[in-house]
Amino acid sequence: MNGITIALSKGRIFDETLPLLAAAGIVPVENPETSRKLIIGTNRPDVRVVIVRATDVPTYVQYGAADLGVAGKDVLIEHGGEGLYQPLDLNIAKCRMMVAVPEGFDYERAVRQGNRLKVASKYIKTAREHFAAKGVHVDLIKLYGSMELAPLAGLADAIVDLVSTGGTLKANKLVAVEDIMGISSRLVVNQAALKLKRETLTPILDAFAKAVKKD
Ligand code: ATP
Ligand code: MG
Repeated sequence: MNGITIALSKGRIFDETLPLLAAAGIVPVENPETSRKLIIGTNRPDVRVVIVRATDVPTYVQYGAADLGVAGKDVLIEHGGEGLYQPLDLNIAKCRMMVAVPEGFDYERAVRQGNRLKVASKYIKTAREHFAAKGVHVDLIKLYGSMELAPLAGLADAIVDLVSTGGTLKANKLVAVEDIMGISSRLVVNQAALKLKRETLTPILDAFAKAVKKD
């Protein structure tokens, strides 16, 4: 494949990447929200977009099925980043990785007493590293979605999840008790593609870098 394939997930990452693509002169011809197509052409015959699950973006780029992609720091930490060059923080899809517990659960006290905590999360690696650094003993329970339910249903004492407005936590009577890290999405590039397709990729990476909004 001589052209360029870009892996994106639909929803906020696709939407927030559109202006950056436009700055590089790339305009997808369809919207994945309304089209069922998983391969979307662009105004440029040599550039196409593949629509994959957010957690699958690093995998497509790692194996070279996509030359570049956009993935959240949350997803990149769990993936490990092998085979990926991460040249740019795009400062989009921003939120925070936090520990949350049910209202009324005395988290500080549980930690002070050295209690073993049951923690449910989609982000096992992030959670493991966070609690290990604090010296808190945890049993980690891997989930794939709706983490907020876990403490309510009695599956876990706490969750590690992404928070933006806090609305979902509040609606489920949970409170954030620890801020683990800020999250934004990064550009990821296949390391071999960067060498083999440098002439095509460099102008795109440069245009992205210039269009990134600083805060
Ligand atoms: P799905 O919702 O289909 O299960 P997902 O949760 O992995 O998949 P998105 O919700 O589109 O996919 O999230 C994609 C990325 O956007 C996440 O990896 C994260 O970096 C970021 N993100 C997630 N939730 C928020 C949020 N509430 N506000 C801002 N950015 C977020
Ligand atoms: Mg989601």
